[in-house]
Amino acid sequence: MSVAASATPAFDRQGDQSDEARVDVAMRSFVSEFGVTAALHMESCVRCGLCASACHFYVTTGDARYTPIYKLEPFRRAYLREASPLAPLVRALGLVRKPCITDLEQWQELLYDSCTMCGRCTLACPMGIDIAELVKEARHGMFKAGLVPDRLALMDRTARQWGSTATPGEDLPDILAEAAREHGVAIPCDLDHADIMVTAAPAELGEHTKALADAAKILNRIGARWTMHQGGFDASNIGFNNGDLELQERLTRALVDTAVKIGARTVLLPECGHAYGAARWEAARWYGQALPVRIIHMTEFLDELIATQRIRVRKIGQTATFHDPCQIVRRGGLEAAARRVLAALGFELIELEDHGVTGYCCGGGGGVVSNQRATPLRNKVFELKKQQIEATGAKRFVTSCGQCRITFEMGAKHAHWDKATESLLELVADNLAD
Ligand code: SF4
Ligand code: SF4
Repeated sequence: MSVAASATPAFDRQGDQSDEARVDVAMRSFVSEFGVTAALHMESCVRCGLCASACHFYVTTGDARYTPIYKLEPFRRAYLREASPLAPLVRALGLVRKPCITDLEQWQELLYDSCTMCGRCTLACPMGIDIAELVKEARHGMFKAGLVPDRLALMDRTARQWGSTATPGEDLPDILAEAAREHGVAIPCDLDHADIMVTAAPAELGEHTKALADAAKILNRIGARWTMHQGGFDASNIGFNNGDLELQERLTRALVDTAVKIGARTVLLPECGHAYGAARWEAARWYGQALPVRIIHMTEFLDELIATQRIRVRKIGQTATFHDPCQIVRRGGLEAAARRVLAALGFELIELEDHGVTGYCCGGGGGVVSNQRATPLRNKVFELKKQQIEATGAKRFVTSCGQCRITFEMGAKHAHWDKATESLLELVADNLAD
């Protein structure tokens, strides 16, 4: 594929490895990630280009470098040179050039700034190539080579030290006490025994404590025996985003192990998309057996409470449109649950042109929203969603992922757009009926 070189390639480096060492460690990691599935994926691309029109970064910029399969070029080269059936011949004849440090530096932007691991390209590919999963594996190699965006590297170091990007565990009781005071709701912490262990997205421990307080309000309303806990409280996806899979395993294990310790049968995940992917779908693989606890997303929980009439909600009776968070809906399978909750709230739902499993990403997933240098590109991508939301003419705009909400709020601010992004959880909590 012929592509224009980036005018201003964005890359950062961590550590003091030599260039050669970085390339070697990245290549070794790429090759070690090649299970049978990844190899089949690499072999089966027919260069049809359908993934390009599925990717919001390509659609909004027309830049060929943002074609999804192109983002995996170093991975493909590693495969062809080191792991494919013809690898010895490929090397001997020099048919595929070994990636050099400049290649990896340039690909850093493609893997981290212009991919949200949303999986829309995966869905579009007629050959079933899971590009989003392969990007995640490629990021693993980049992380080992010390070639990730500095902002994500900083968050990674924090999470390794604290077990959270938001706060050390010992500060959790004070943060919860403050949120409880501010919102007038009891938030139990560190109970020795509970049925439900509740987790938070990092933003809910900072500027978005209302979401946390609203979860507490609902749990208290149903008389649940629940707690948050210093041992495992941050439903974070930082390891996933960075390619630090060891960190991700550690963070997710802390949730499961703490829940088991206090006898909780359920771990309730907050309105966060990537945490859902990490904890709901990856944890069993890391755990090596069926999980001893049920891990559910807040949207599933609300849906179940309404369906079983443990809570009732007042009808709002306006038009609304809904953004499907990629990790919860396309990759998580929870398309219907949010729509049932919206229906219970009496909304007349006007769907986005692309919705459900084919909905476009908010543009901030996969760490892009935290990666400040990607802000201009993220703002460009935001236009696509903005246009689709405006085209519905709906009065209200709702989503069920706190990270998507933050991305939309930042995009709206940049675009001087006054459409509020509302949380499904907060709408339920604000409209609880007696
Ligand atoms: S996973 Fe999403 S952002 Fe990444 S290449 Fe595919 S469509 Fe684009
Ligand atoms: S849609 Fe699939 S087969 Fe077509 S170019 Fe993209 S990755 Fe290759």
